[in-house]
Amino acid sequence: MSEAATVQQAGIRQAGTPAVKANLLGLTRPQMEAFFLQLGEKKFRAQQVMKWIHHAGVTRFEDMTNLSRALRERLPEVAEIRPPEVVSQQDSGDGTRKWAVRVEGGGLVETVLIPAGDRATLCVSSQVGCSLDCSFCSTGKQGFQRDLTAAEIIGQVWLAIDSYDAFQSGKGRIVTNVVMMGMGEPLLNFDNVVSAMDLMLDDLAYGLSKRRVTLSTSGVVPALDRLAGVSEVSLAVSLHAPNDALRDQLVPINRKYPIAELLRSCRDYMAAQSDRNRVVTVEYTLIAGVNDQPEHARELAVLLRDLPCKINLIPFNTFPQSEYERPSGRAVSRFWQVLVDAGYIVTVRTTRGDDIDAACGQLVGQVVDRTRRSERYRAGGDTQAIEVM
Ligand code: SF4
Repeated sequence: MSEAATVQQAGIRQAGTPAVKANLLGLTRPQMEAFFLQLGEKKFRAQQVMKWIHHAGVTRFEDMTNLSRALRERLPEVAEIRPPEVVSQQDSGDGTRKWAVRVEGGGLVETVLIPAGDRATLCVSSQVGCSLDCSFCSTGKQGFQRDLTAAEIIGQVWLAIDSYDAFQSGKGRIVTNVVMMGMGEPLLNFDNVVSAMDLMLDDLAYGLSKRRVTLSTSGVVPALDRLAGVSEVSLAVSLHAPNDALRDQLVPINRKYPIAELLRSCRDYMAAQSDRNRVVTVEYTLIAGVNDQPEHARELAVLLRDLPCKINLIPFNTFPQSEYERPSGRAVSRFWQVLVDAGYIVTVRTTRGDDIDAACGQLVGQVVDRTRRSERYRAGGDTQAIEVM
């Protein structure tokens, strides 16, 4: 990070530029240390404040009792701790909890916590909308608005823990795993996503192991090549097709970075890891009559033979504007069997949160619809307008 960027993030006024309050929620350990050094404070203040924010869930400087009174009074002038705002929460009968979160500028993103046994996986968004327009994706249909900041990304972890009132409550870990698999393509928001993932792994923040944090990409190859040098998180790749002709239709970025380049980049990423026993998760959404035939499975088995991987099959979840159908259970098990017979470890993602809009991007679509209806009612002078909350 450049000095100018550090100064800007720290919210310290430079000649001729307006001061912007730094949102300390999104600062990595080195950035937080730089922030306090620039204030003329000792580096250890960074550790104290990170623990207050990420371990204790404290957002008011006045409550940080181990800081000096003078520092507690000064901090609100130059900084803030501002998590994103929850505008809607849905709880499924199976324990899945989904939030629609409003970020600065009014955009909405989704965050989902999926409990399973002793694990609870948080699916985190990285952008408001997405520019890649995969043909089976609800988020892609909403277009792209902007990248999330590091504070807005890590803020989703913060709010999930806060939502269960679980900061320092002794209830155990609410979030055990994180997948960067929500709205947006994380590698198109590289710096902010890397900063947020650094915080997920940092003991002064959430202290998750690198195996429990997964970045899922649709295949932005140059950025994946770059990631190999700066991160050791687990990797998932959204493949969805066994050949370029089909993938060009389903995942348009494939026209720029075809499958061979993507798999080369995945192999390089794995080769750069210190732990050689790790594998890539290959995500494959099964769409009825499109990519779910046994010949597709056989082609996939050949395609992946040089990649250390496991395969996660995801039966397509329908959503209102979609032209695709969910495959039959028989088609899914036939596809699964071909891959298992070829020697792969294959899981089938069970549908979770069926009663609360299972497809990614749906909850936000619904909240946006309600907001628009609300605006229409207001424009018509109807005082019974439907509110977002
Ligand atoms: S699947 Fe992922 S990359 Fe593709 S449009 Fe949806 S959010 Fe974007």
